[in-house]
Amino acid sequence: MKIKPHIALYTLLALVGYACTSGIVTDSHLTREEAVYSNQPPGVMASVQEKLAVVDVRYYGFDGRIHQGQIVIHEALAADILQIFDVILQTRFPVESVLPIAHPLIQRKGPYGLSSDTNNTSGYAWRPVTGCKQLSMHALGLAVDINPRQNPYISGALILPPRAMYEPSAPGTLTADSPVVRAFKQLRWEWGGDWKERRVDYMHFQKVPPGWEQWTGLYRKESLSKMSAQK
Ligand SMILES: [Zn+2]
Repeated sequence: MKIKPHIALYTLLALVGYACTSGIVTDSHLTREEAVYSNQPPGVMASVQEKLAVVDVRYYGFDGRIHQGQIVIHEALAADILQIFDVILQTRFPVESVLPIAHPLIQRKGPYGLSSDTNNTSGYAWRPVTGCKQLSMHALGLAVDINPRQNPYISGALILPPRAMYEPSAPGTLTADSPVVRAFKQLRWEWGGDWKERRVDYMHFQKVPPGWEQWTGLYRKESLSKMSAQK
């Protein structure tokens, strides 16, 4: 049987289309159930988990290819995350990986994904503030860390991840005039790179939605007393 030229053309176009779509590297494609409820430490609060959204995001990796990952964040901030990742993608700001803490690849690096050797970008994580007993804003789904290795947490001699360097001109590094930092600030997120007292946390962004200040404060205190009661 002879194949008609227009059918051959459509087949070719379909194949090219497939190749373009499959050119995206899938870093994370978990279900909400897996991303929010699997591999969680003890003491996680169900009322926080209920409010978490799993946002699919696209970004350029350091390999120059487009990747697809997922951020777990409070549902009230999901639209902000989409807008910010639009800037990340359009400006080709490279991101190493964006996996939920519950992702098996992160879990393999340490219990509950808290390994210091990860350069993963993530939102929700049930944990206290570094070096402190108070519950972190990450535990309420109100914070995001971006490229920790390029944007370390520095407090005196403590640098996390260990041996990370803050080199403002290196790709994937956040600075005050970076379009990514500006996009966050336009949406009223606070940047840890602006913190000058005791510590600076270049990877970290957080946002308390308007009117939630008291709730967030109470929640962190109550959760803390719950955590200590469990000890
Ligand atoms: Zn953080």
